[in-house]
Amino acid sequence: MNTTIGVIGLGLMGAAMARRLAEAGWSVLGYNRTPRKIEGIETLADLPELARRADTLWLMVSDDAACREVIESLGEEGIRDHTVINSSTIAPDESAALARRISALGGAYLEAPVLGSIPQATSGTLQLLLGGPADLVARHDNLLRALGTPTHFGEIRSGAAAKLAFNQLIGTLTAAFSMSLGLVQREGVDVDKFMGTLRESALYAPTFDKKLTNMLDHSFDKANFPLKHLLKDIRLFTHSAAGRDIDTHLLIGLQHVLEEGICAGHGNHDYSALYENIVRQRAAH
Ligand code: NAP
Repeated sequence: MNTTIGVIGLGLMGAAMARRLAEAGWSVLGYNRTPRKIEGIETLADLPELARRADTLWLMVSDDAACREVIESLGEEGIRDHTVINSSTIAPDESAALARRISALGGAYLEAPVLGSIPQATSGTLQLLLGGPADLVARHDNLLRALGTPTHFGEIRSGAAAKLAFNQLIGTLTAAFSMSLGLVQREGVDVDKFMGTLRESALYAPTFDKKLTNMLDHSFDKANFPLKHLLKDIRLFTHSAAGRDIDTHLLIGLQHVLEEGICAGHGNHDYSALYENIVRQRAAH
């Protein structure tokens, strides 16, 4: 059904997703606001040209403002008769507004935020959290499966809501682990013994081991998911939950920690750098 996919936003994730789609045999064109070359992908400097040559536009940009800027730049001529698949992490309200705008411009819209990061995009093992009409999901099934496992949650909003629910867990689990690891270290408790016991307990989450080395080595430069985007998502969760009468006081502290992380220069570092602002470093290392 799909012939050419135009991937818009060739940042950390968009570039990996475009490469994966091309490797899976899809005809892929790329566009990035700041012109960027991606090996094996034809990249265009002109957004309208991308829309003329692609029938499906796959968005992977920073936030809602970026999504709206892209859609308004494309206008009716670029959107009409196209399907827009949006994997950017945005709020349910933002996604619903985008869906209305795209429909008014004559296009179809599918929410497809993803769980997983660059390694999963590269290997085609992302989890795609879909919201939108069932016929649209069915029509793009092969394409979606090229990137991983799709789960159709329901109408527009549901995929975006599920994504924020997952990302809230990324933030709070990492912060909770940082605090416990910090106390263990400062009390001189053996970290290996602590981790061994944790792994055997019901409290264990695999993400703890994934981030342990970063924290022990104070090494956060190689970002898959940058801290600045986690802050965006925690803010989106807080705003979305407030509208649903869910108490998010717990997240105030986490937002503060992430804001401090940005001030300390960790915005583009891996989100696990939040450890540095929880377990305050006393001396240069
Ligand atoms: P990134 O590396 O920061 O890339 C952001 C992309 O958005 C860049 O291509 C950037 O273009 C583009 N962009 C920003 N503002 C724009 C605008 N106004 N108009 C057009 N393009 C604009 O981010 P990422 O890590 O790939 O993440 C992209 C999205 O996926 C975010 O919503 C993020 O929360 C979500 N996400 C990320 C991960 C992950 O592991 N990294 C996983 C799941 C979901 P320029 O190069 O010109 O700035």
